[in-house]
Amino acid sequence: MSTPVQETLVLVKPDGVARNLSGEILRRIEQKGYSLVDIKLVQADRSLLAEHYAEHAGKPFFEPLVEFMESGPILAIRIAGERVIEGFRSLAGTTDPTTAAPGTIRGDLGRDWGSKVQQNLVHGSDSPESAARELALWFD
Ligand code: ADP
Ligand code: MG
Repeated sequence: MSTPVQETLVLVKPDGVARNLSGEILRRIEQKGYSLVDIKLVQADRSLLAEHYAEHAGKPFFEPLVEFMESGPILAIRIAGERVIEGFRSLAGTTDPTTAAPGTIRGDLGRDWGSKVQQNLVHGSDSPESAARELALWFD
């Protein structure tokens, strides 16, 4: 049985772009063997971000998260590969950059920069349903 080729949405968040880590993050994606399908620098507005993070509406970190994501340009990347949704989440590491495993993007390059929001450098879709929804939001 062959492994399915999937697509997922990766965002280099404003902290990653501001720290000039976009190239390092792209390097890790390419070295893993995933393909770049589309890429653009976006200044996201509130409505896009509220849609993107709809699952977190009402949580205490929601407002600071949206403000952080509005604070500067985001690099939106559409990538493809076998089991890439799970694979990119694995490259990114767990949500809290302080404790994310060394070897991951968040574990190697991130730490908590803000008190109210985890500035953890990247976003990756967490399921095929999320990937389809988020790719349509950012790219279609
Ligand atoms: P992930 O990005 O790993 O999928 P979540 O979907 O749970 O994590 O959360 C979305 C984003 O919200 C995180 O990447 C992080 O920037 C922020 N966040 C999540 N949980 C917290 C928290 N407890 N405190 C502050 N910020 C958080
Ligand atoms: Mg998530």
